[in-house]
Amino acid sequence: MQNFEDWFEKFNAWSFSGHQLLNRCKQAYYYQHIASALKSSPVLNVSKIKRLKGLKSKYVVQGSLVHDAIEDQITQHYFDRNISQESAQENFLKRLKGYETCADDMITEFFNGEKIDPAFFENIRPSGIEMLDTFFKIVWPNLKPLEYLSHEKFDRFILEGVPVTVKLDYITKSNSGKLVLSDWKTGKERRESNLQLGAYVLFAMQKYDTIPENIFSEIIYLGSSGRSRPYRFSSDQLDEVKEIVVSDFETMNSSYEIDNFPADPYPQKCFTCSFASVCPDSRHKDQVVVLDDPSDPINDMLVDIVE
Ligand code: SF4
Repeated sequence: MQNFEDWFEKFNAWSFSGHQLLNRCKQAYYYQHIASALKSSPVLNVSKIKRLKGLKSKYVVQGSLVHDAIEDQITQHYFDRNISQESAQENFLKRLKGYETCADDMITEFFNGEKIDPAFFENIRPSGIEMLDTFFKIVWPNLKPLEYLSHEKFDRFILEGVPVTVKLDYITKSNSGKLVLSDWKTGKERRESNLQLGAYVLFAMQKYDTIPENIFSEIIYLGSSGRSRPYRFSSDQLDEVKEIVVSDFETMNSSYEIDNFPADPYPQKCFTCSFASVCPDSRHKDQVVVLDDPSDPINDMLVDIVE
């Protein structure tokens, strides 16, 4: 048995981001979720792995800052205070400045050797502000009248015997008594997998003791004028979600040895991987493709991992 930190058992759970990372590279999953929970190891630099966990890829910095700025304002709403777009913008700009100042310590690609490019920050600054504008002018007027239930909280529940962690952006109740699960994304608008929202629906069914027909779930695209895409789930689709959760969790816990989590190196993938500097198979130094190629599906997956 590995030498785990006391919190490992408590926090060892299925999550959508864990599922995405497992599919991206099993060894990256191992570093993120297993090696970082070790007290020490004769073969791994555990303290470095714990620190690398905090890196964020360029592809997720903006989304994460926009989420944080909105979260702070919804907290104000929860305390019955007015929300402020200006405060959200200030918060976004201040935290972005922090990333800019310490870019090679905080952003994966710069940590992995990419030359820091001021244009990166110049580009995400105005588009982040624009997404906040969309949220406060278009999205919030629709959400504000609904009854507040919860926002941005890590919740844990048991699904078919598997502990599952979810973090929903916003849960409300409509006048008609329906639960509304709203998840916002800063990435491109597209048909999302059913897995993330399906897990949210299964959580809401348990927590609020209700049926799928009483739950409205939506993804709101802040980069596409706040367009909302509704999702509905049949019981067959929810069963599929459960099957994936159970099968993933088996893989995640079938062993805690690194050899059972094979590396899947690919230059662009490794260059955006937080653990490239400790992974013996990393190909981040072979990185030759255009980093900001938006058509590369690897980048879409990274956006999913944070949002
Ligand atoms: S550096 Fe590449 S091969 Fe190694 S863990 Fe990261 S993604 Fe996987």
